[in-house]
Amino acid sequence: PEVSSLTLAAATTEAAALRTQLNQWRREYYTEDAPSVTDAEYDQQYQRLLAIEGRFPALVVPDSPTQQVGDVVSPDFTKVPHPVPMLSMGDVFSLDELADFDARLRKTTTTDFDYNVELKIDGLSLSLVYTDGHLTQASTRGNGRIGEDVTANARQIADIPQELPRPLSLEVRGECYMPKAAFAQLNADREAQGLDGFANPRNAAAGSLRQLDPRVTQRRQLATFMYTLMDADQFGVARQNEAIQFMADLGFATNPSSEVHHDVSTLADYIDRYTAQRDSLSYGIDGIVLKVNDLALQQELGNTVKVPRWEIAYKFPPEEAATIVRDIEWTV
Ligand code: NAD
Repeated sequence: PEVSSLTLAAATTEAAALRTQLNQWRREYYTEDAPSVTDAEYDQQYQRLLAIEGRFPALVVPDSPTQQVGDVVSPDFTKVPHPVPMLSMGDVFSLDELADFDARLRKTTTTDFDYNVELKIDGLSLSLVYTDGHLTQASTRGNGRIGEDVTANARQIADIPQELPRPLSLEVRGECYMPKAAFAQLNADREAQGLDGFANPRNAAAGSLRQLDPRVTQRRQLATFMYTLMDADQFGVARQNEAIQFMADLGFATNPSSEVHHDVSTLADYIDRYTAQRDSLSYGIDGIVLKVNDLALQQELGNTVKVPRWEIAYKFPPEEAATIVRDIEWTV
């Protein structure tokens, strides 16, 4: 039934069932790095729960998946607090929803703004801290406020600079991912050894970064794209696209595909271009991310408990569906 026609009693029962189901899927995905359903199936149920909670706000409880940043903090790792939380991200699934997000956001501020549009890399978040130019700490997102110390493992990832060209103290955040070729090789090797393969490159990346033996991480050939410069203003950096350039100049791996757009109406073309290139990229992407480009305005717009208000992910349709859409377009 439509969420708008649910009674409170029916909504209460359904929300409880959805929480139980989603929390089980989250355990499989985040704790065991072994999802039993596709992201699209997970997203669909998650959106249903969001819609029910949106109509009946009294049903929101702290242990709802809509209130929590997903990943777990394994007791096997030293805990690392994140003074500035590492959050999740809101998502939309159509251009209409993207236009609605833009319209709502523009109503909340009198300042005109651009978006920096980036690819949404299918990996897991990673924070890197440098002290006087030396890499001193790497950590996972964990539950957003407390992550896992993976410093020894990050030292084994080839594209992470161990030293910066200048003696700067800073934190950058970004995505750690497994390139498609490394993923195919890893699963082939595991199959040959009679082991289960990883479900997808994201789970393989998570399972490879969160390793107690850094030599295993080294063999897994992980890679990174950094996209967040913390406290950027202390370096005179005022915009997200400049932050990416600043990090690139320091030797970090950054993704070359980001673009500044003012209007969401021009994004259909960006999405089409990267949908078409998706299979030929050497890394997985599951959508695009729009971020308010002005970093001071980002601060002003702030965050909810779970997601920044100044950014949104547009998720690609599941791969099968995307192929069908393209086939239809080609035959027209
Ligand atoms: P998310 O992965 O959808 O989005 C937030 C994350 O995107 C950030 O933390 C960051 O790591 C990443 N990201 C990639 N490129 C980025 C860029 N350019 N800029 C900023 N961030 C970028 O949200 P989430 O809360 O980490 O995970 C929820 C998603 O995980 C769900 O939507 C679902 O797809 C998947 N999931 C699947 C299952 C399952 O059982 N299949 C279970 C739980 C979650």
